Amino acid sequence: MPNFYSPEDIIRPEILALSAYHVPPATGMIKLDAMENPYPLPSALRDEIAQLTLNAPVNRYPDASAATLKATLRQALGIADDMDILLGNGSDEIIQIIAMAVAKPGAVLMSAEPAFVMFRMIATFANIQYAGVPLRKDFSLDLDAMLAAIAQHRPAVIFLAYPNNPTGNLFDPAAIESILQTTSGIVVVDEAYHAFADASFIDKLSQYPNLLLMRTLSKSGLAGLRLGLLIGRSEWLKQLEKVRLPYNIGIMTQLIAEKVLHHTTVLSQQAEAIKSERTKMNTFLGTMRGVEVYPSDANFILFRVNAASQIFQALKQHNILIKNLDGSHPLLENCLRVTVGTPDENSQFCAALRTILSETV
Ligand code: PMP
Repeated sequence: MPNFYSPEDIIRPEILALSAYHVPPATGMIKLDAMENPYPLPSALRDEIAQLTLNAPVNRYPDASAATLKATLRQALGIADDMDILLGNGSDEIIQIIAMAVAKPGAVLMSAEPAFVMFRMIATFANIQYAGVPLRKDFSLDLDAMLAAIAQHRPAVIFLAYPNNPTGNLFDPAAIESILQTTSGIVVVDEAYHAFADASFIDKLSQYPNLLLMRTLSKSGLAGLRLGLLIGRSEWLKQLEKVRLPYNIGIMTQLIAEKVLHHTTVLSQQAEAIKSERTKMNTFLGTMRGVEVYPSDANFILFRVNAASQIFQALKQHNILIKNLDGSHPLLENCLRVTVGTPDENSQFCAALRTILSETV
């Protein structure tokens, strides 16, 4: 019998030191923690999907290049013919593909913090160094600090979410362009929340050879399908394609996403409803004493309270699950993030918060 290794013997120390990405249990709760679209698809469309899936040849591997789905995405999203598309099992997987592809010894992946946590986590998975440059106190990009960090670290890749998670704001596009003009590496503008914002870098793709644009269908209504996409020049995407696992987009995702993308008005109407609820919630939070609310171009709102963890727990007692960001970053002290839900869910959240705040003041 050999002397078996224990995990501590062979797993990398930085993986041993990690905590796994935590998804809290939410059964029976009003779920306002994960930036999902709260609206189901219309029943006629669900019937069509049921027929499609009934006849899906699940004994076969899916189309490895997802050609039909890509063509539909191209149409639905207005992607120029001279740009390529890479598909991921959620945009998380695309971040991983990029990190793995650039992970030379000493390579750096950079972002502006607080940022989407997977940028840092995936850098660790892929054994690449991570540099997080703090945002300013108002959550705007600190361009001087970014340019200094670019000069110091020479990052292979910079991820900037536009709008940003968890702060909800759009960075100054001129600052992002300065970064694109300064860095020698690639810049991934992550437009996960594009459906709720009135701005995009998609038209800049032809201008900047080092710009890649990432989108996802998760926030606009198809989180369960897991489909993210990267748009950019073929010189980059043909290299990244080599790292993509074969058949990473399953047949159900291909069939259903393609069907729904022929009905994008459904998703855009739902996004409009979410945007108008966002305005209402933002106004409500602004009227609460002891609450500082931040403007949002996404489908969630960041706000600051006294004793955030206590309020987060009290909301849970009211069966409402949001995200507690207190302690996750120095700029997020006492911050909570709520996803915009249906009007009824939002009313329940607002009523519960009003009660809790009146009890804790
Ligand atoms: N980018 C940002 C900025 C996000 O907030 C998220 C989800 N929280 C993702 C990417 C990942 O989305 P998905 O993997 O569902 O496409």
